[in-house]
Amino acid sequence: MHRYRVAIVGAGIIGASIARILSMYENIDVSLIEKEPDVGWGVSKANTAVIHPGHEEDPKSYPLRARLCKEGNELWREWVRELDIPAKWPGELMVFTSDEEEKAAEKYIEFAKVNKVPGVRVVYREELRALEPTVNPDALGAVYAPTAGMISPMEAVIAIVENAVENGVKLFTETEVFNVRVSANRVIGVDTNRGFIEADVVINAAGLYADKISNVVGVDTWFFIKPRRGEYLLFDEDVDIKPTRILHTVPTLVTKGVYVVTTVHGNLMIGPTAEDLPVDAREATLTTREGLEYLWREAGKILKVLPPRSRVIRTFAGLRPEPPNGQWLIKAYDSPWGFVNVAGTRSPGLTAAPAIALHVLEQMRSVFDLRLVKKEKWNPFRKDIVRVRNRSIEEIDRLVETNPDYGEILCYCRMVSKAEVVEAIKRMKAIGVKTITVDGIKFRTYAGMGKCQGSFCRWRVALLVSKYTGVPLESVVVKRGSYGVGDVKLLLRGRAAKGQG
Ligand SMILES: Cc1cc2nc3c(=O)[nH]c(=O)nc-3n(C[C@H](O)[C@H](O)[C@H](O)COP(=O)(O)OP(=O)(O)OC[C@H]3O[C@@H](n4cnc5c(N)ncnc54)[C@H](O)[C@@H]3O)c2cc1C
Repeated sequence: MHRYRVAIVGAGIIGASIARILSMYENIDVSLIEKEPDVGWGVSKANTAVIHPGHEEDPKSYPLRARLCKEGNELWREWVRELDIPAKWPGELMVFTSDEEEKAAEKYIEFAKVNKVPGVRVVYREELRALEPTVNPDALGAVYAPTAGMISPMEAVIAIVENAVENGVKLFTETEVFNVRVSANRVIGVDTNRGFIEADVVINAAGLYADKISNVVGVDTWFFIKPRRGEYLLFDEDVDIKPTRILHTVPTLVTKGVYVVTTVHGNLMIGPTAEDLPVDAREATLTTREGLEYLWREAGKILKVLPPRSRVIRTFAGLRPEPPNGQWLIKAYDSPWGFVNVAGTRSPGLTAAPAIALHVLEQMRSVFDLRLVKKEKWNPFRKDIVRVRNRSIEEIDRLVETNPDYGEILCYCRMVSKAEVVEAIKRMKAIGVKTITVDGIKFRTYAGMGKCQGSFCRWRVALLVSKYTGVPLESVVVKRGSYGVGDVKLLLRGRAAKGQG
């Protein structure tokens, strides 16, 4: 049986999904390579989290996007169950407030027919309000798409990687690919800051940096990525304006519209904007006053009552990896043999990720003529961390009997116990995360995601990281680089030494 070594560049939702699919095969050894300290910290971290139905993809202009979006929506139902990922399926309402918008919205009924998206129809005033009481009474109607869903994208990436690693995938974090080595017109591996990794197949799933990887190989040299920023407002979970459906304005040429959603964790969220940035602005995730004002105005069109502005707990922005023509570049090359591009993965890349992974497998099979053997014992399941949040006192008592750490609450906003943080640290080590970051724990446990945004719990989490990893407290990393939780005495000593004390 011939063995294939596959290197995947990028552990975002798409690289992770491809790794999971490839882990089903006996004769593929997968290396999942990520430049950041943890998985999912690229585009997959900051987005609207909607599992789109597929009726917004123009089947003529973007047939691949249309097909894989619809298939991805179907596949996610199975994946969230197998992998215990927080998800809900409330359906969505594309709200129109004028005759022109109604006309623009009608084309999505046609797209739905061609893309075979079930149940999409126009609803008018009374039915709209029955479907969603928080909607602006001046709205004329909406395109209703019942199959829309929402997930927690970061938790999805984490769950997929945990499952892929359980099935044999090797994760390399803090490992940046800077070259794809080619010899005799075949790829032979990747050069990284940690040395050379051999591979017969290299899959480029590098998100915002996928054009750079593609360019070093010298294929499709016309291709480049332009970052398109999307800003958001996130509200405290006790704000009582919480649409049950996913609401959004009518899409434009550049965006699927502004969304007003209740996240799977119960926060009202409004966004995104759509702003094209210069090609080199790939880390420009600051929010702007203009962007946030625009969101406020757009939300006012579709909500009956706007939430109190004072209840915004966070503003943030994500960057879409926008390809020049809106088309995803998903292609296996026979020259050089063994290279695969999964680039320009703009929206609906989150929705389509499982379907993209299957499509990549098909491409690899047909172009590289791989002879693959399915594993007899592939485990499709993964369980989430056991949480005290939303449990009854009796249930928490039972948990405390099994482990007293469930009784020690570290994050009061989100009700996160010490046991959950310790479990997160254990899981990060198990998948091969080298630096246990406070942010990595936040994304796994929600500690620091509540109204105080970590002011209360961050140092407690950092103390535990220090205890369970042996890293001194002042060297614990919150996000990346050297920003740590400080030892005040040490800082003061430093200032005194510089004559500032
Ligand atoms: C504002 C916004 C809203 C969106 N809303 C939705 C939505 O509601 N629904 C939907 O379906 N889609 C949505 N999307 C699109 C979706 O988020 C993306 O399609 C998806 O996250 C892309 O995933 P990815 O794995 O390709 O990229 P990423 O998540 O960026 O993963 C790529 C990874 O590669 C790593 N990397 C890069 N270069 C290197 C290197 N040289 N070496 C090693 N590692 C490297 C990066 O660090 C990163 O982790 C939205 C996007 C944005 C920005």
